[in-house]
Amino acid sequence: MTNRRYLELSTGETDTDIAIVGGGLSGTLTACLLGRAGYRVTLIDRHRIFPQEFRVEKVGGEEIEKLQRLQLLAPLSAASLPFDEIVNMHRGRVLDRTYGRNYGFFYNRLIAAMRAALPETVNFVVGQVCGLRTGATQQRISILGQNEMTARLLVLAGGMGDILRRDIGITHRSIGARRPLAFGFNLRPLRSNRFRHPALTYYGDGDGIDHLSLFPVPGATRANLFLFRDPRDPWVKSLYDEPKQALVAAFPSLVETFGDFEIASRIDSWITDITFAENCRQAGVVLIGDAYMTSCPAIGLGVSRLLTDVERLCTVHVPQWMEETSIDSTRIAAFYGDPEKLAMDTNVLRTADHHFNMGGGTDLSWRLRRQFHFMQRRILSGIDSLSPALAAKLQHLKTIRARSVVRSPSLNLKSTP
Ligand SMILES: Cc1cc2nc3c(=O)[nH]c(=O)nc-3n(C[C@H](O)[C@H](O)[C@H](O)COP(=O)(O)OP(=O)(O)OC[C@H]3O[C@@H](n4cnc5c(N)ncnc54)[C@H](O)[C@@H]3O)c2cc1C
Repeated sequence: MTNRRYLELSTGETDTDIAIVGGGLSGTLTACLLGRAGYRVTLIDRHRIFPQEFRVEKVGGEEIEKLQRLQLLAPLSAASLPFDEIVNMHRGRVLDRTYGRNYGFFYNRLIAAMRAALPETVNFVVGQVCGLRTGATQQRISILGQNEMTARLLVLAGGMGDILRRDIGITHRSIGARRPLAFGFNLRPLRSNRFRHPALTYYGDGDGIDHLSLFPVPGATRANLFLFRDPRDPWVKSLYDEPKQALVAAFPSLVETFGDFEIASRIDSWITDITFAENCRQAGVVLIGDAYMTSCPAIGLGVSRLLTDVERLCTVHVPQWMEETSIDSTRIAAFYGDPEKLAMDTNVLRTADHHFNMGGGTDLSWRLRRQFHFMQRRILSGIDSLSPALAAKLQHLKTIRARSVVRSPSLNLKSTP
């Protein structure tokens, strides 16, 4: 999708048209799309090769559809293992099964594959960005030990720990006191060369455990565990000291259903602050991905959210901005107010709120909801074995209802500055 009119307008007065700081998933995908569209793009990251850090490790459903639409599915499938069935468990029993294409991967290898797919025209600079000066017509980017770079538009995609925002007065607001814990590690089968199922999800029971997800990645079986518990909780501590015993105690019949296992890697862990950026409607600079808003890892919507950012930015807003001689704050505000982006951001917050309460809400209303939710799934699964068509219809109705009853969080993104 080459933007010919833009190429004619391009003056070359800046070193690059679009500088993207951060070559994680959101920055790399953005560079790919804007490079393909014919803009002069520079992607800057402090790492030539993304380090082995624990982030998203599986995608499915809507995320795959979006990547396909953006013609970015090939690098994902090159770096991952596909699987099509997940056995779901609750309280020691199989609850139901979900079907559909998913991909499991290690994040660093996904980023490597996405970077390998960058068009040759994208200039990849390895360096630590250490200063920014922004404005409607020109952005100045300082990189440690290198010459300053100028650009017409600056995309900040530096992830959740990005401190550069401070240079231009962008702050981060934490949403609530909920800090989900995420753990990632490899499992190896014992007494057999493979597990009984390709993938399994085991839901907690209002005990602060959201879910444990087991799935294949290239060369390993990976476990992702998401909790809403205090990091000082004794069981959390036991996860580091005696991980297998801790899992067996918390997830009855896991070994019988999935197969016996040992822990085959170190235990990676994260405490995530759910935050979003304030004061970001500024001329010449736009924030995407985790740099704009982090999401609760347990709900698995971080990639969906960043793909919405990337798609709306690259296909709707950047083409309009590049037609102009300056990119003022009103134009930038149109991105944050984009109806599709706003709907996605709001949905991420609502879903996080819902998960938090489903995972650990102790009042009667949440206890009843939880019981009703799992009972409904068991009944649906029973119907499915007798009449798959009827079960599909009921499932469809349930999904529509679930969307409408998810509680609204205290935050209204439309009112953020
Ligand atoms: C433990 C965990 C589990 C998760 N699980 C899921 C899940 O199951 N499903 C889901 O959808 N989402 C999940 N997420 C969320 C998902 O991983 C993130 O939303 C996504 O990775 C964010 O990508 P990003 O490109 O915005 O940031 P990142 O991938 O963090 O990339 C930021 C990049 O910016 C670079 N950078 C930063 N500052 C500078 C600087 N000053 N100069 C140069 N370079 C810089 C960094 O080197 C890095 O490469 C999870 C997150 C975590 C932490």
